[in-house]
Amino acid sequence: MLALTGRKGDGWLPSLGYMKPGDLQNGNAAIDEAAASVGRDPREIRRLLNIGQLAADPREFAERLARLALDDGIGTFIIAADDPRLLQIFGDEVAPATRELVARERGVRGIAQAPVRSSAALAARREGIAYDEVPAGLRAIEPGDFDYADVRATYMRGGAPGIVLQPDSPGQVSEAIGFARRHPELPLAVRSGGHGISGRSTNDGGIVIDLRALNDIEVLDRDKRLVRIGPGARWMEVAAALGEHGWALSSGDYGGVGVGGLATAGGIGFLAREHGLTIDHLRAAEVVLADGSLVRTDASTRPELFWAIRGAGANVGIVTSFDFEVDEVGDVGWAQLAFQVDDVAAFLEGYARIIEDAPRDLTVFLLAGGPRPGQPQVVQLYGVVDSDDPDTVIARLQPFAELAPLVQQSVQIAPYPQIMANADTGPQHGAGEPHSRSGLIEHVTPAFAEAAARMLASGAIPFFQLRAVGGAVADVPEDATAYAHRSANFSVVALGSNAERLDAQWRTLAAHTAGMYLSFDSSERPERIGEAFPPATLARLRAIKAEYDPACVFRDNFAIEPAAA
Ligand SMILES: Cc1cc2nc3c(=O)[nH]c(=O)nc-3n(C[C@H](O)[C@H](O)[C@H](O)COP(=O)(O)OP(=O)(O)OC[C@H]3O[C@@H](n4cnc5c(N)ncnc54)[C@H](O)[C@@H]3O)c2cc1C
Repeated sequence: MLALTGRKGDGWLPSLGYMKPGDLQNGNAAIDEAAASVGRDPREIRRLLNIGQLAADPREFAERLARLALDDGIGTFIIAADDPRLLQIFGDEVAPATRELVARERGVRGIAQAPVRSSAALAARREGIAYDEVPAGLRAIEPGDFDYADVRATYMRGGAPGIVLQPDSPGQVSEAIGFARRHPELPLAVRSGGHGISGRSTNDGGIVIDLRALNDIEVLDRDKRLVRIGPGARWMEVAAALGEHGWALSSGDYGGVGVGGLATAGGIGFLAREHGLTIDHLRAAEVVLADGSLVRTDASTRPELFWAIRGAGANVGIVTSFDFEVDEVGDVGWAQLAFQVDDVAAFLEGYARIIEDAPRDLTVFLLAGGPRPGQPQVVQLYGVVDSDDPDTVIARLQPFAELAPLVQQSVQIAPYPQIMANADTGPQHGAGEPHSRSGLIEHVTPAFAEAAARMLASGAIPFFQLRAVGGAVADVPEDATAYAHRSANFSVVALGSNAERLDAQWRTLAAHTAGMYLSFDSSERPERIGEAFPPATLARLRAIKAEYDPACVFRDNFAIEPAAA
């Protein structure tokens, strides 16, 4: 078994209590010899040890463990004990003292602390990546590494990147971009919260710059309600942190979404009609550019860059921190309603009319799926009334109740962070390719409503969303940010599992849309860039792209072509 461990195994875990003097050394030697016989570095095979309480005195205990670590290469000790007092001493005193002793002695003996990748892990490396040239100190996860399973996919898409770099500072982001620039032929994905609908924050065989470690949330100025947020933070974390001050920043509807992707594209959230898009609150940002330089941008410093990152951020750099001015938001009305709808088109028209006529404190969205045999069409409505007054909340919601019979209703007065605490921020294991189509519309016309009803009846669309935008979003001039479709009152989204069936249905609906929101789309059609950005916006973006990223380092998520010189 020891020879087999040496030839094939990942580690050896004997129990000290069962061993005679010399067993550990002999076992290690047998493993090392077998490893060497097949060309493996013996350090690939991890040595672990089950132990009991080796000494009553914590210091003496630590010294014995340190000897086992230094002389016999044991890297992990598992204590077989269930006495809480002993576990506490082991964790609080013995383990730290052992680490300290080992580190000190390693220094004296000149033992390098380089972890060794197993030959299996080395074999899993992808072609064309200079793995050994990753800058020192920059965390890199490779296909053969244990953590890879938790970083390869995003929420929406399966992936198999060749290397995932996890910088923990803007300087390391710059180094990661430098590494990517040395591999110009490889795909480059930028990942913050991993919830991009297009799924382009992972790839196959390429490089991913994963910003999850840049997730600080810091108050800069209480009086001005200025906060600085890292791209890797998630919106439920942001909501919780701001909620402590009675503040909120309208972001989206799902707490697991990351700050980086959403805040560089738009941010259509639960408070959109009252407080605008997320990008409308951006006052400054730090960006690492394609050439690796770190710059700060605001309305007067590099104003063109500041304009571009509010709607087309993915194309011009990697934002490493966002300064937002946030709003005072107290408890809000939180509605979850479900209707039985016989006439979908009439319902959609009525729903849209109510929203357009409503005060700005109402922001809702509607969800519907395909027909279910033998069951009625159900339409769900979720949303917020930015008021803690029950009468106001009811007044805003009552008109919807008159559209169709309610089959379920829940309306609560709740803190905003509680509404956003609706996600699991753990590892994402999406699979396959996402298929999502986005459109923006000013009004729900009868023709649009009919087309949407037909699309739902087709059964090709398991997920249809009609969401309120408008209000404060439209107060911002069209040319103030790269997100330009300010006059849209509604966002429309359809998801499907089959791209062809989805597109066949979407085409009839798209005839009624004017523009789209990149964050809700996954298509590869070349025209989609022109739909996301009106001509003047696109021309300006192309000029900025030519200045900031002429070599198109950032091209994997809705690439904008640089203007010709
Ligand atoms: C369940 C769910 C609900 C959603 N709800 C909403 C909603 O209510 N409102 C809304 O507006 N959107 C919503 N979205 C869409 C979401 O805003 C976008 O998909 C957004 O890009 C996700 O951000 P992320 O950081 O999690 O994504 P990631 O997948 O990490 O990144 C997406 C893309 O953004 C770019 N990017 C990421 N980080 C940076 C950075 N720091 N600098 C520059 N570019 C960067 C990259 O091109 C990347 O491919 C939702 C998505 C999901 C999956």
